[in-house]
Amino acid sequence: MKKPKKLSVKVITLFPQFIENFVESFGILKRAIKLKLLDFKPVYLRQFGLGERQVVDDRPYGGGVGMVLRADVLYKAILSIKKKELRIKQKTRIILLTPQGKQFKQADAHRLSKYDSLIFVCGRYEGFDERVRGFVDEELSIGDYILMGGELPALVISEAVMRLRPGILGKDESTVAESFSENLLEYPQYTKPETLRIKNNESRIKVLKVPKVLLTGHHKNIEQWRKDESIKRTKKRRPDLLIDQN
Ligand code: SAM
Repeated sequence: MKKPKKLSVKVITLFPQFIENFVESFGILKRAIKLKLLDFKPVYLRQFGLGERQVVDDRPYGGGVGMVLRADVLYKAILSIKKKELRIKQKTRIILLTPQGKQFKQADAHRLSKYDSLIFVCGRYEGFDERVRGFVDEELSIGDYILMGGELPALVISEAVMRLRPGILGKDESTVAESFSENLLEYPQYTKPETLRIKNNESRIKVLKVPKVLLTGHHKNIEQWRKDESIKRTKKRRPDLLIDQN
């Protein structure tokens, strides 16, 4: 069988060690690198900085607190990667990480898993010069909260993407029926023991049982039960998913 294609991920960051430490220590990204299905490299933004001090940021025009990453420096960093990727005809996507971006969803993970190469641009401090938006392909947020930098979002998105690539998950680790596929939450899962006895707050014994249908071995009924539970659960917990098709 043909070996699946390698994904290239470059993360433009001021903290390359942060990225390296994470991917080298554990998890799916480490596994993918070992399997030679992923080339995951931080790109140190400072090497593109200006002058002897390799300056990458400056104060915002018009005043205000904090520092802003310079667009010219980020442009140089992106261009240096893009040139190499274009030379080897990679299908590349440049993603700017920002809390102002479109919220990253499982559908985006599927979409991005089709590329050969992803370039993540991490902001820091107060963010980046607005003109950066003019030379990226898209902007993504991982949620409505503010982090210190784009490094964690880059790792979050990379993990979600990588687990969808061929050759990564074992045959027991399915991505088909899990939450957000087909805009539904996954059905409830149970394992041993069949009966669990716990004490509630009033020290009364409570018996928690596995739903009977799961013990019958009747595959069609089990499948139907799971489908119903999945819909019921989505309606109750995340009705927005049933409306929001993106
Ligand atoms: N001042 C910016 C604003 O209000 O939009 C926030 C800057 S934040 C402190 C620094 C950087 O962290 C951002 O430029 C972005 O790269 C990253 N970041 C923070 N929260 C994020 C989120 N929820 N999703 C994606 N990136 C985020």
